[in-house]
Amino acid sequence: MASRLPLIAGNWKMNLNHLEAISLTQKIAFSLPEKYYAKVEVAVLPPFTDIRSVQTLTDGDKLLLKYGAQDISAFDSGAYTGEVSGVMLAKLGCSYVTVGHSERREYHNESDELVNRKVKAALKHGITPILCVGEQLDVREAGNHVAHCNTQLVEGLKDLTGEQVAKVVVAYEPVWAIGTGRVASSTDAQEVCAAIRVQLAEKYGEEVAAVVRVLYGGSVKSGNIGELIAQKDIDGALVGGASLQADEFTKLCALA
Ligand code: PEP
Repeated sequence: MASRLPLIAGNWKMNLNHLEAISLTQKIAFSLPEKYYAKVEVAVLPPFTDIRSVQTLTDGDKLLLKYGAQDISAFDSGAYTGEVSGVMLAKLGCSYVTVGHSERREYHNESDELVNRKVKAALKHGITPILCVGEQLDVREAGNHVAHCNTQLVEGLKDLTGEQVAKVVVAYEPVWAIGTGRVASSTDAQEVCAAIRVQLAEKYGEEVAAVVRVLYGGSVKSGNIGELIAQKDIDGALVGGASLQADEFTKLCALA
């Protein structure tokens, strides 16, 4: 049975300038001594404009904290105004990138096809994609949440080999739980995370399914992480709002 190191990734979204990013990173580093990193991997996902500052700090102080980006271009370079490529993110030492976050799917019309190209771009440059899947409230109420998430999963991983899929992190983020304070119950979150693992096993084999980390995201806080992470198929969390407060985020990481 493969053991999966829990991952807590803080999605800062479009918050904090580079000076505020330095301050928060320092506070996280100070409050989370090295001994914790044997039990949990911790990453922050700042806006693009902060990544260089976070890199300077983590490199300079040899921090065990990882960092990454919130999006990646499907292209490596060229006339794509406003885009940031995997080449650039890899050069900045990014370990992770979220792909297919529901806010990008909704506000930027990102399709499963584009998400799939972004997953491939991340892997090409040695960056771990955190592939986000999740249903809207009406989909859950209609009882179609598992099928919906599995479709996003299969399409997002299209044409990848089992070896590549083993390097991906999947985040189950029900849209109705993101930024709403309404967390999924641990049973509901486990149901979808388990279904994701079954789907991975069917397509890529048990060995691959056993190593892929499946996170839950949606109003995770220090008060609910314990119950969520106790579930068999939940290997950590993608944390939005609570990742912006050093005390709350480090408490949450220590409990994971
Ligand atoms: C997110 O943005 O991925 C997220 C889970 O946000 P929050 O924790 O604020 O619900």
